[in-house]
Amino acid sequence: MTFQTSHIPPDTLDDLGRSVSAEESDDSISVEAPFTGERIGDVPACAPRDVTAGVSRARTAQTEWSSWSMERRAGVLSRFHDLVLDRQDELLDVMVLESGKARRDGYEEILDVATNARYYAARAEEFLRPRRRDGAIPLATKTMEYRTPVGVVGVIAPWNYPLTLAVSDAIPALLAGNTVVLKPAEETPFTALLAAKLLREAGLPEDAFRVVTGWGDEVGPALIDAVDFVSFTGSTETGRTVAERAGKNLVKCSLELGGKNPMLALDDADVSAAVEGAIRGCFTNAGQLCLSFERLYVQDGVYNRFLSRFVERTRELSMEPSLDYDVEVGSLVSERQFEKVREHVNDAVSKGATAVVGGNARPDVGPYFFEPTILTGVTEEMTLAREETFGPVVAVSRFSDDENGIALANDSDRGLNASVWTTDSDRGWEVARRIDCGTVGINDPYHAIWASVDAPMGGMKDSGIGRRHGREGIRKYTESQTVAEQRFASVASPRQVPTKWYARAMTSVMRLFKRIEEGW
Ligand code: NAD
Repeated sequence: MTFQTSHIPPDTLDDLGRSVSAEESDDSISVEAPFTGERIGDVPACAPRDVTAGVSRARTAQTEWSSWSMERRAGVLSRFHDLVLDRQDELLDVMVLESGKARRDGYEEILDVATNARYYAARAEEFLRPRRRDGAIPLATKTMEYRTPVGVVGVIAPWNYPLTLAVSDAIPALLAGNTVVLKPAEETPFTALLAAKLLREAGLPEDAFRVVTGWGDEVGPALIDAVDFVSFTGSTETGRTVAERAGKNLVKCSLELGGKNPMLALDDADVSAAVEGAIRGCFTNAGQLCLSFERLYVQDGVYNRFLSRFVERTRELSMEPSLDYDVEVGSLVSERQFEKVREHVNDAVSKGATAVVGGNARPDVGPYFFEPTILTGVTEEMTLAREETFGPVVAVSRFSDDENGIALANDSDRGLNASVWTTDSDRGWEVARRIDCGTVGINDPYHAIWASVDAPMGGMKDSGIGRRHGREGIRKYTESQTVAEQRFASVASPRQVPTKWYARAMTSVMRLFKRIEEGW
């Protein structure tokens, strides 16, 4: 079956593939449409020397780009915001074709990228403007903190949100005056290349955002070796190798890694709202969402009602290969991902878990489709009890009281996202604050968290290092520089005064400062 897309002009994918500069390599990567397994185009498999050359061009471009005023840089990102909204159909067609996701899941990426562009274009100036800091002795010293761009930022992205994860972390990096070299996932390079084209149309200088396509274990290390900051999103396993290499190079990095996210439905939850939350939280993007729930804990009092409604609603979900908005669950991205999901489910069922709904591959729908699956009776010896499946599969179990629920939620080496469902707001906040995850939603699966771009977001434990969004999300792409001018009365001991007298006087001054700060 071949998909006709009405929004991508002919030859678009071929042209995008040709836009990658790969002079040192004749190899290519064939990109397929997960809906059918058919090839939709090729991109170059860049050699390490292509990566070095790309970073070098980005470094040259950075001098000019960082000399632009913040207002002028913000203008580019503001126009990019408009282009993403105006050209959303084209972006969505490419995204759905190469990732196999449901179009409604792709639309969340359009919203996310536009929101980040608008937010940082409006707030970057405030987050990065020079700030007056206190000197040691009031008025005696003028101390300023400045923020300067790190230089070239390398963004390494996964395939699950091919627009968001290629662009949203790059937006603050660009606004801070850096240039960016992006390595998209092998499975989804075309969305990234189309985004790069739109950035150029918005007025970004040619080499300020470059895309290098290729194999992760070749292009990734070459990129880490050449850039000044690495912004990595992907699995915890790869994240460790990225951190190791960046550490060796003494290059800073932020790591947005995998989760094994818990959802808690407390016994006073609005059951139908909690079930809708679980449907969104477990099966959005066919479960290939870093924030999605793979562990669902339901308190005894609502367990039976919750489970029967959850099973009923899961059965109703529509799943088919389509470029239209009406489909609820799309395909898994690749054979590799499909095999991983199938192995996790088969392993669990063979060791005694029950698939109360789903549990099967659906080759009749498409080669990598897998049914939304609810498992009960999951125990420790099953692989998916602790490992991230990253598919439409959730293990449901019960708990007795809040202490027990919180302990279960925290019993993981991951700490990315969690969710608590209750009609008692105070109880919800209390439980949320005790869960060891970087983000926790109350009566929300992930939308409130993800869309609160003013608040930092990222993982605790093995789910990452660093944060995206908000002030932290842009300041990490800068170096701080402190400049202090001594005007009079140095804190150091004057040459004419014996050190003994100086020490005595300073001790009194220190005591005085403390009393003043404490309000006498
Ligand atoms: P992955 O780690 O396999 O690949 C991510 C990227 O790293 C790809 O571009 C890949 O080519 C590249 N890469 C591979 N080997 C590399 C190496 N040695 N050096 C440098 N780069 C290398 O992850 P994936 O399978 O593409 O994505 C799924 C994972 O990403 C899941 O674990 C998911 O939870 C996680 N994820 C996390 C977030 C978050 O914000 N925390 C968001 C989305 C996905």
